[in-house]
Amino acid sequence: MQSDILNDLVSLRRDLHAHPELGFEETRTSTIVAERLEAAGIEVHRGLGKTGVVGTLRLGSGNRAIGLRADMDALAMPEIGNPPWKSTVENRMHACGHDGHTTLLLGAAEQLAREGGFDGTVHFIFQPAEEGRGGARAMMADGFFNRFPVDAVYGLHNMPGLAVDQIAVVEGPQLASSDSWTATFKGVGTHGAKPHLGKDAVTCAAHFLSILHNVVAREVDPLQPAVVSACALSAGDFDALNVIPDEVKIGGTARAYTPEVRDQLEAAIGRLAHGAAASFGIDCDYTFIRRIPPVVNAKDPTGISRQAAARAGDVLTEFPPSTAGDDFADFSQEVPGCYVWLGNGPAQDGALHHNTRYDFNDDAIPTGVRYWVELVRAALPQRAGE
Ligand SMILES: [Zn+2]
Ligand SMILES: [Zn+2]
Repeated sequence: MQSDILNDLVSLRRDLHAHPELGFEETRTSTIVAERLEAAGIEVHRGLGKTGVVGTLRLGSGNRAIGLRADMDALAMPEIGNPPWKSTVENRMHACGHDGHTTLLLGAAEQLAREGGFDGTVHFIFQPAEEGRGGARAMMADGFFNRFPVDAVYGLHNMPGLAVDQIAVVEGPQLASSDSWTATFKGVGTHGAKPHLGKDAVTCAAHFLSILHNVVAREVDPLQPAVVSACALSAGDFDALNVIPDEVKIGGTARAYTPEVRDQLEAAIGRLAHGAAASFGIDCDYTFIRRIPPVVNAKDPTGISRQAAARAGDVLTEFPPSTAGDDFADFSQEVPGCYVWLGNGPAQDGALHHNTRYDFNDDAIPTGVRYWVELVRAALPQRAGE
C-alpha cells in the first residue's frame, strides 16, 4: 500500500477512534463515510437503518452482486488507555475495533473505485448499531435486500492474538446465536419471621439457579456447544431484611450454533423455571427473546474468502468459533455469507475486545484493505478478453 494512502487511512482510523458514537447515533461517522464514498465517485445511499450507509460500485456488464459489511458503532464505556487519539467523548469508546472496520472497508471502496479489476456490483454496507441494538435488522427493515439484491454477503472482525497478516477463514459456525431470557418468580410476600404465611420466591429462585446449568450439562448433546448464563438478579431490599418480597426476577443469555440447540435452550430454561415455580406453588413469567442467529459460513463464499485471504496475507483454515454474537448473521441468514477474523497483533496489556484499553491496531490496515479488494476480484472476476 502506498504510504500516502496508508497515512490517510491511519489518520481516519484515529479520528474515528477519538469520536466514538453509539448505535443509531453514528451521524458524524456516517457523514464522513458518505462524503468519502461520494468523493471516490461511488453512488451513496444514506439513512438505511437510520444512520446506515450503502455505497454502490458497478463495473462491466455482469449482473452478479455482493455485499461487504462493516460496522460503525462504539460502546458505552470509558476509555482508560491513553493513546493520543483517545476518545474525546465521555463514556463512549471504540473498544471493539469498529473504527478499524469502517476504515478498512472505506479504504477498499476507494481503491476499487480507482483501480477496478472486477465485473459486477459491489454494495459497501456501513452498518449502524452492531453492539446489541439491531442495526442489521434495521437496515433490512428499510428494504436493504430489495434495494440492493446481493448473491452473497461478507463480513470481517478484528481479532487480537492473531498476527496482523493473518486471516482466519473457516467454514461452518463462527459466532453463536445471542438470545436473552428472563424468569420472574411470583410468590406471596410476607414477614421474614413468618415464611409459612407467604410463598417464598427468593428460595424458589435459588432452586431454579441451582438446576439451570443442567440444561447444558445434561440435556444438550455434549458435542454441541451451548452456553446458558444467569447475568442479572433482583429482589427485595437491603433496607428491609425482615421482608420476603413478592417477586424475584432473573435474566441471562443463551448461546448456540445451531437452530436445533437454540430451540432446545429456549424450551429447557422455560421448563426449569416453570418447574421450580410449580414445586414452590407459585407462578412464573418466562420470556425468551431471540436477538441474533448464529453466524454460519457457507461453503462457496468461504472458498472465495480463502482465495482473497491467501492473496492478502496468511490464511488460517482452522480457528475456534466464538461464543460472542454478531448481527451480520441477519444478513447471512438471507443469502450465503462468510465472516472472517483479521489478525490485530498481540493483545496489548492483555486488552481484548470490550476492554477499556482496547485499540484497533493500525498495522492491520494494509492486510484488511487488501483482503476486501481481493475478495471483490475473486467473487466478481473479470471475464476473459475484458
Ligand atoms: Zn463488540
Ligand atoms: Zn465488534
